[in-house]
Amino acid sequence: MKLLIVGGGGREHALAWKCAQSPRVSQVFVAPGNAGTALEPRVRNVDIAADDIGALLDFAVREDIGLTIVGPEGPLVAGIVDRFTAARRPCFGPTQAAARLEGSKAFTKDFLRRHRIPTASYATFTAADFDPAYIKAQRLPVVVKADGLAAGKGVIICETHESAIAAANAMLGGSFGAAGNTIVIEEFLAGEEVSFIVIASDQTVVPLATSQDHKRRDDGDQGPNTGGMGAYSPAPIVTAALHARIMREVIEPTLQGLRADGNPYLGFLYAGLMIAADGTPNVLEFNCRFGDPETQPILMRLQSDLVELCEAALAGALHGSEPRWDPRAALGVVMAAGGYPDQYRKGDPIGGLDAAAKLPGKVFHAGTRAEGDRVVTAGGRVLCAVGLGDTVADAQAQAYDLVNAIHWNLVQYRRDIGYRAIKDE
Ligand code: AMP
Repeated sequence: MKLLIVGGGGREHALAWKCAQSPRVSQVFVAPGNAGTALEPRVRNVDIAADDIGALLDFAVREDIGLTIVGPEGPLVAGIVDRFTAARRPCFGPTQAAARLEGSKAFTKDFLRRHRIPTASYATFTAADFDPAYIKAQRLPVVVKADGLAAGKGVIICETHESAIAAANAMLGGSFGAAGNTIVIEEFLAGEEVSFIVIASDQTVVPLATSQDHKRRDDGDQGPNTGGMGAYSPAPIVTAALHARIMREVIEPTLQGLRADGNPYLGFLYAGLMIAADGTPNVLEFNCRFGDPETQPILMRLQSDLVELCEAALAGALHGSEPRWDPRAALGVVMAAGGYPDQYRKGDPIGGLDAAAKLPGKVFHAGTRAEGDRVVTAGGRVLCAVGLGDTVADAQAQAYDLVNAIHWNLVQYRRDIGYRAIKDE
């Protein structure tokens, strides 16, 4: 069978690498892919943008693609699954209606409240009804969020009422484009963040290995929010008891709620959770796809056939699937371009990839481009170096051996990925 992966980041490199190992697959195409997917055995890049749904569908029909897996949220929120399904092309991901869980924070907050799923208290506003008095009445810090997709940047944690009002006015004034036409003002939650990712097929759920990511740019979880600077799996904070609680209080009621609302879910479902001191798993956000960079360490540990799992989900036959996991820990360090997450440099030649390829572990590409026989930077997050080890500390050491082999002008990365888990080992 031929397979199509939609997207071109680190998540898609990991998906393509993993799916290419399936005995069911003869060829994996990645649209558009990156310099890393281009070099992967049995994988080929296709020059189609991830949001060009018409061209992707034409390609899938022409090449008789047996399964399409969608990496990023953009095409899912735009309805790629509905379009493929109407053309009888199997496509793994949620429908446009179900993907609103990621596409609209206001929709999701109302959904969570309606279905009694734990989350921060909130109010939503548009420019027409925004009331600064609401913000002034909130405890500090207060969180201001753009409703729509903002590439992980539409969340501002404000330490003063004035800065929160300014952030709200900026969003409503268009600083995030249409994504900020509606805003959510939310209570700040303290605790530890956990990513909980499952494969869902309506009411049947297969939880994936637990993971945790680091969203802030700088060591010690300081500095601006990013798409993610590193991640590791498993997440020791997710004990068996907490795992059961997240399934019971978040995942199951969410899938039941979606079904009750007429939008049954199929695909990867990612719950971003803040675990309160009393163990309450508060939902910060849902993503309607696999996480990036969580995908990279999670798939390094997956021993089962991912293609089989996705096909079982599509066939309504997921029940009883129990993926096998490498018992070792995996840890990924994101190497980013100078300036990220603001204006960042592009086109810097990357050195040391050949040396890194001889080391244990795996370097997944994200924002990279082949230029002749050189590989140059082409995005904010450029690479994710993943190590495996008996402990998170061992996995971390292997990942940083890879990082230390690679260099380019003004590369930046954190030196402490996994520190919370390592502290407790
Ligand atoms: P989101 O896109 O909603 O997950 O927000 C991005 C990041 O902002 C989260 O990963 C958290 O680190 C932080 N964040 C979002 N909402 C809250 C909140 N209510 N309280 C504390 N931190 C938050």
